[in-house]
Amino acid sequence: MDSLDAQLTTKLSALTEQGLHRSLRVMESARGPRITCAGRELINFSSNDYLGLAYHPAVAQAMNEATVRWGVGSTASRLICGTTSEHAALEEELAAAKGTEAALVFSTGVAAATGTIPALVGKGDVIIMDKLAHACLIDGARASEATLRIFSHNDLEKLESHLGWAREKHPDAKVMIITESVFSMDGDLAPLRELVELKERFGAILFLDEAHAVGVRGQGVQGLAGELGLNGRIEIQMGTLGKALGVSGGYIAGSRMLIDFLINRARSFIFSTAPPPAVAAACRAALRIVQSPEGGSLKVRLWENIQLLASSLEIPIAPSAIIPLILGSEERAMAGATLLSDAGFFVPAIRYPTVPRQTARLRITLSAAHEPDQIRELAAALAVSSAD
Ligand SMILES: *Cc1c(COP(=O)(O)O)cnc(C)c1O
Repeated sequence: MDSLDAQLTTKLSALTEQGLHRSLRVMESARGPRITCAGRELINFSSNDYLGLAYHPAVAQAMNEATVRWGVGSTASRLICGTTSEHAALEEELAAAKGTEAALVFSTGVAAATGTIPALVGKGDVIIMDKLAHACLIDGARASEATLRIFSHNDLEKLESHLGWAREKHPDAKVMIITESVFSMDGDLAPLRELVELKERFGAILFLDEAHAVGVRGQGVQGLAGELGLNGRIEIQMGTLGKALGVSGGYIAGSRMLIDFLINRARSFIFSTAPPPAVAAACRAALRIVQSPEGGSLKVRLWENIQLLASSLEIPIAPSAIIPLILGSEERAMAGATLLSDAGFFVPAIRYPTVPRQTARLRITLSAAHEPDQIRELAAALAVSSAD
C-alpha cells in the first residue's frame, strides 16, 4: 500500500488531467469591488457581498465596539455560556425582520442546513429535493437517513409525482421538500408559489434556502418568500449572514416551536462554539442597514447594476445578482477566466463538482458597490474574449 501522500498525489493528478484541480487564491487586499491578488489589482465580480456591507463603516464600528465590550471569543457553545445578549437580540431582530415567531443563529449557513435537516426528518421519512440544491442541503439530507428523491431542476410535474409516490408508499412519513429560492450557480428562481401550493396539497413541509435571495429579492431580508407574501406558509426559512448581510453565520427562521426544537436537537448548533458576540453585533448593524432607507437605495443600485450588465451584454435581465455564462467544457471556462483576468477582472470559472459536467461556466456576481463603468468595461472584455 502506498503512503497516504502517494495515494493523494495520484488522485490529484487525475483531477489536474481533467482540468478540475483547484487551489486557493490569496487576496492581498479586498475592499469592495477592488481586490489585489498575486500583486495585481482586479475588479472583483465573484463576491456575494451584494450590498457592499462587508466593509460598511457602521457594521465595522459595531463589530469593533462589541469586541471592546465582549472580547473576541464566545468561550463556549450556545447552550453553555456562549449565548450573549448580542446573540439573543440578533435572533429577535431577525425573526421580526423575517416576519416569523422566532429565529436561530448558527455559526454558518452550512451548519444551519446540516444541523436542521437531520433534526427534523429521519429514517422512514421522505425528502424531495431539487437537483441543483446546494451541497449543504444534500449533506443534511444524507445525514438524516430519510429516503431521498430528487426532482429535475424546478420541475413541478416531477415534484408532484414524487409527492404522490411518497403519500402512497409512505402514508405516515413526514415529507420534506428542500429547495433554494435563488439558485446559487444559476441565479434563477424556484417557482415558489406553485411549490407552496403543491406542498400544501400533499401535506408536506418546506425547507427553503434563501442564501442568495435575502437582501436581493423582497423588502429588507424578506427574500423571495416575503416578496411573494408566502412567509407564513413556509415552515423552515434558512439563510446566511455571510452574503448580502456581509458578515458571517447562518440562520433558521420559523415558529417558536421549531426553534425550541432545534435548540434541543440540531447537532451543529449544540456541539459547536457560539459565533463571537462581535459577529452577532455586526450582523445586527447590517440587518438595521438592510431594513433602512439606505438599504433600500443600495438594493436599487444593485438592481440598476443587474439591468446595466444585461443591457450591455444584450441578454435578458437576470432575476438575481448571479449571472452565469455557461461555456460547457472545463477548459473553455478556465480559458475565459484567464482572459478576463488578463483584462483586469476577476470572474471565477465554476466547474464540476460545483456544477454538472459540461456546464462549466463563468459566474458573474454583481454588487451595489460596482461602479457602472466597471460593469461596462467587464461587458466589453467579455465581448472581446468570446470573439476569440
Ligand atoms: C453559501 C450558501 C450556503 C452556505 O452558507 P454559509 O453561510 O456560507 O455557510 C448555503 N446554501 C446556499 C444556497 C449557499 O449559496
